[in-house]
Amino acid sequence: MSELHKFIFDGLPVRGAIVRLTDDWQEILQRRAGNSDTGAYPEAVRTLLGEMTAAGVLMQSNIKFNGALVFQIMGDGPVKLAVAEVQSDMRLRATASLAGEAVHEQALPALVNVRGGGRCAVTLDPKDRLPGQQPYQGVVPLHDAEGRKFQRLSQALQFYMLQSEQLDTVMVLAANDQVAAGLMLQRMPIKGEANLAAATESGAVEQDALGLNEEYNRIATLAASLTQDELLTLDVETILRRLFWEEKLLRFAPQADEQAPRFACTCSRDRVASMLTSLGEEEVQSIIAERGQIDVGCDFCGQQYLFDPIDAAQLFTAAGIQPPTSSSVQ
Ligand SMILES: [Zn+2]
Repeated sequence: MSELHKFIFDGLPVRGAIVRLTDDWQEILQRRAGNSDTGAYPEAVRTLLGEMTAAGVLMQSNIKFNGALVFQIMGDGPVKLAVAEVQSDMRLRATASLAGEAVHEQALPALVNVRGGGRCAVTLDPKDRLPGQQPYQGVVPLHDAEGRKFQRLSQALQFYMLQSEQLDTVMVLAANDQVAAGLMLQRMPIKGEANLAAATESGAVEQDALGLNEEYNRIATLAASLTQDELLTLDVETILRRLFWEEKLLRFAPQADEQAPRFACTCSRDRVASMLTSLGEEEVQSIIAERGQIDVGCDFCGQQYLFDPIDAAQLFTAAGIQPPTSSSVQ
């Protein structure tokens, strides 16, 4: 079963979380492999998407926010788009679409940033968004301040957390065909610091000061010593004991079933119908005329939604039909 554990260090401004997605991650992979149009992900893509999903859970677990955290990469290489979406109650889903190019290596630039055109963003989409309200979006650079491309997703996220959120962060991520897992350690903002940072006109916190916390540095070094192999193969208790056996760790009770990270898709026939309605009657009828029916598949879960000519006609004749609220299928 998938697990999320959160902890703090007694008396220290450091918090951490560790996630291990097991059966839920396997289900995402199996659904993809079962899709005859796409087939299974290549190994390197699977690793990238698993790491993104684990990171999405870690980031969502750290914020007080009611809605979806959408972590996405628009790539310029073999991976065109990779999306991991985690709701506040830890329901999650993930998908990637590929450009059809061969995948040769696992490094981040080779997958999504071949020509420096890859884009990565974290979007917070509130559950009850008001009309016209824009979701918050943070841009995650895929290169450092000197323009050197990050080789690993965790490096990009650590850089983003420090530069954009003023949060010193250690992130270790790993995924294979059984497990997608992550460890995140963060130095919590000292009281008033966030306000000070926001109030400074340049927005510049003294970067040096962020690292000047002996306790944080000690614990961060321990966390960073975790290898990907250990993260994938050891259980949570063993990892925490091995890394932090000399520290005073305060554990939060792991999330109960209905709050544990789990695969769930939010697509529905109503949403697809709404999307089709927004295309307009002429467009929908022309697809029907051409193909005899409309077949819409969900990229996240593989569910197929079929609209025959009668269904399609009803989209525009049903009494009391609501105007489309979203142009998105999912
Ligand atoms: Zn779906």
